[in-house]
Amino acid sequence: MINRRNFLQGSGAFASLSAIGLSGCTRQVTAPLPPLVTSTPAFPFYDAVGPIIPIRADLDRIFRITVCTRPFRAAGPRQDVERVGDKYVVHNYGHGGSGWSLSWGSADVVVRRAVATLAEGSGQRDVAVIGAGALGLTAALTAQRAGMKVTIYARERAPYVRSVRATGSWTPDSRVGLRSAVTPDFAANWEAMARTSFAMYMTYIGSAGYPVEWTDRYALSDEPIPDHPPEVRDYVRYMDRIADLTPGPHDLPPGTYPFPTRYARRTTSLTFNVADYARQLMVDFLLAGGTIETRDFHSPQELTALPQPVIINCTGYAARQLWSDESITPVRGQIAWLIPQEGVTYGLNYNGLNVLARRDGIVMMLNKRGEDAGWNDSSEVPDHAVAAEAVGILQEFYGRMAKMPPAKRS
Ligand SMILES: Cc1cc2nc3c(=O)[nH]c(=O)nc-3n(C[C@H](O)[C@H](O)[C@H](O)COP(=O)(O)OP(=O)(O)OC[C@H]3O[C@@H](n4cnc5c(N)ncnc54)[C@H](O)[C@@H]3O)c2cc1C
Repeated sequence: MINRRNFLQGSGAFASLSAIGLSGCTRQVTAPLPPLVTSTPAFPFYDAVGPIIPIRADLDRIFRITVCTRPFRAAGPRQDVERVGDKYVVHNYGHGGSGWSLSWGSADVVVRRAVATLAEGSGQRDVAVIGAGALGLTAALTAQRAGMKVTIYARERAPYVRSVRATGSWTPDSRVGLRSAVTPDFAANWEAMARTSFAMYMTYIGSAGYPVEWTDRYALSDEPIPDHPPEVRDYVRYMDRIADLTPGPHDLPPGTYPFPTRYARRTTSLTFNVADYARQLMVDFLLAGGTIETRDFHSPQELTALPQPVIINCTGYAARQLWSDESITPVRGQIAWLIPQEGVTYGLNYNGLNVLARRDGIVMMLNKRGEDAGWNDSSEVPDHAVAAEAVGILQEFYGRMAKMPPAKRS
């Protein structure tokens, strides 16, 4: 621990005070100071849990309920090149629950393939991107930055694309493949994609509108908290490969946190405020000279009518229909959105409920079945009873918190 008195004596602070005629103050400064560190060495004071503002969990504060299907492929995202008529189609879909997180890295892979494909041909630099979700926008921007002239063709754009119905969290290995189905080189490819994405996300930190920010999340339980969710199928788990990118999980000692549960674990990770982030991606694309056309393709053959020789296909879950790709399994997820609150930017995981307080809404996702929730369910119809149950869990949680002695709550 730094001794503040020695620090002041050695730092020249005394000399400068004397020089301006304040040497009489020295007696005050040399008086014993109270110790600065008051908590145990295992949990340093500078890392203390800050004040937790309760979320106003009321049914009438839900301003929308959204449902979306994750485009899951057991073999991982599709990124190969396919010939359709005289066109080259570079696929970029099937990112499961990791589409935002892996988007920039995946764009890097497919744009390199598009550039290589163009180089073999006429020397043209025109590229078409089908889709304006997370994968389409990042592929389009990456292609522009590689010197391409890019046109996006899409049936929908934000806020109507499925991507805007995501939780908005850094989850690069969430439902992105099965160990029994991925190729041996997939783990290394995944790691490269995750690192490329992460590096790009760091460049958005501090931007106006908070498109991306670091926030704390708390896993809270009365039972010991497992390191991984119970294994329902052999999902790939790769986070150990990139453990150096984000702060590790910290189990909080009892008495050091303001929550009512016996166990608490804190992590710090990235939140994507998707409303602002998606708009920023689109604005950047247009500012760089990109164009976007509303277009609905009903078969791959329709792509042959486009003027561009190379097409990057970012159609997400809809690729199942457009490309007759039965390898895509829908994994349904529902989010109930509470009105955002000033100063509330944390996440909670409690009793099957995942909450992430974003600037554009406090998202609540109830997964009583853990990672099995929504498997092979393509329904995008909201379930209001589930949203009400989520509110009930939060009310019960903050009700418990209210019964804690005031000193422990703050
Ligand atoms: C509940 C939930 C929570 C999630 N949370 C996270 C998270 O926290 N972090 C994370 O990284 N990922 C998360 N995901 C996953 C992520 O949302 C998806 O992987 C991602 O949105 C897929 O993006 P996409 O661009 O491939 O598809 P989409 O967003 O579906 O975009 C597809 C685009 O293609 C266009 N298109 C499709 N078909 C056609 C056609 N025939 N003709 C013309 N245009 C067409 C569409 O109009 C659209 O513009 C979550 C998913 C769900 C369901």
